[in-house]
Amino acid sequence: MNELQSNNDLQHDNELQRDIAVVKFGGTSVKTIARIQHVADIIKGISRERKCIAVVSAMGDTTDYLLKLAKQASSVPDKRELDMLLSTGEQISIALLCMVLKDLGVKARSLTANQVGIFTEHVHTRARIVQINNKKLLADFEEEDVLVVAGFQGVTTAGDITTLGRGGSDTTAVALAAAVKAPECDIYTDVDGIYTSDPNKIPGARLLDRVSSGEVLEMARLGAQVLHPRAVELARQYKVRLRVRNTFKPEHKGTLIDSGENMELFRAISGVAVDEDQCSVAIMDVPDTPGIAGKITQALADENISMDMIMQSVHPTAGVNSMIFTVSDSDIDQTIKTLDAIRSQINAKEVLSDPDCAKVSLVGQGLCGQPWIPALLFNTLGKNGINIKMISSSEMKITCVVSRLKAQQAAKLLHDAFELGEEKSGDQNPHAAKSV
Ligand code: ASP
Ligand code: MG
Repeated sequence: MNELQSNNDLQHDNELQRDIAVVKFGGTSVKTIARIQHVADIIKGISRERKCIAVVSAMGDTTDYLLKLAKQASSVPDKRELDMLLSTGEQISIALLCMVLKDLGVKARSLTANQVGIFTEHVHTRARIVQINNKKLLADFEEEDVLVVAGFQGVTTAGDITTLGRGGSDTTAVALAAAVKAPECDIYTDVDGIYTSDPNKIPGARLLDRVSSGEVLEMARLGAQVLHPRAVELARQYKVRLRVRNTFKPEHKGTLIDSGENMELFRAISGVAVDEDQCSVAIMDVPDTPGIAGKITQALADENISMDMIMQSVHPTAGVNSMIFTVSDSDIDQTIKTLDAIRSQINAKEVLSDPDCAKVSLVGQGLCGQPWIPALLFNTLGKNGINIKMISSSEMKITCVVSRLKAQQAAKLLHDAFELGEEKSGDQNPHAAKSV
């Protein structure tokens, strides 16, 4: 089931609530009391013109600190109790922010997920939102101008506190925007917006003024530290325009994320993403019969392990096949254990793994059907002696797995080769003449 899909409340009124601003401030934006005061000033400014829902994360690294405490208390902390603990981080932020807002004369109220009615599935540590009680929010606006809501947390219909998964406050903000039918949601963070690549690692990375939600989803999944993918998915589903902007430069417009209409006409590629925490796993010489891939993937699904770049292709020996895929670093031990356990059942010869993997991906809405793009990509890596271990492509991306040591160099080379640091208008394809 998709997030929020069963929410009938969302369908009851198609009028967009243009007079409600939904904003979200991340952990770095509320790291100290001084920063909370700065955030309160921004919210006060907004509240002069519109009602405002402000979602906040836990202060700085509070969630990491709470996780560390939990690990000290128990080697495998009970998930229900973990959610109880982790949700307290956001509660600190909403209370402090509201105190400051009230001192500034703003009519504000802090609300936990339980108080709002942000209902989730009965799953701990990565629950999905099922329904939001927008009537409570709209009723509170009769008395208040600003509602400060704790991000990242939810509640089950049985009254248990849940959390949405790390980085989940973005999802809370978009879900609230969808629930009150606000057309936009501003995500305030500590960078100016979304770049063509990580500006801390690729010196020529350029800020994008607009990017499509599809591209952002790919970038996030492929390792770019942008937005919580579930937040982007929800925004796309409920047609909420997202704007990523800098808390410390509130006048800066940031990056607009929308459906990306007409975008591929003027820009084939939007960015290069790197994910250095990848491993590949290969199951060698399994019988080439129906049902094997199902058994392998089912065993991993039962452990909740996500696979990516799943491939099976031509095998030199008749009657057998091999399957290869990637998993994230944190899942590799469990993956090998699970596959070893079913190896004899599926008659596989062996399970191989390679921990030295990084994904380097080109992402772009207009990448499809342009043969010069893969040619330039592979030629660039080849000329520079970078070996490609795996390749996969889809509508909006081409991913290469390379050694971790080469990943940043590969990204920089591609960023230069595709001239992503340069503002483009009109036809982006500098290689069109060569490709025809
Ligand atoms: N505080 C949570 C985390 O650090 C949620 C968030 O910041 O969005 O993951
Ligand atoms: Mg955080």
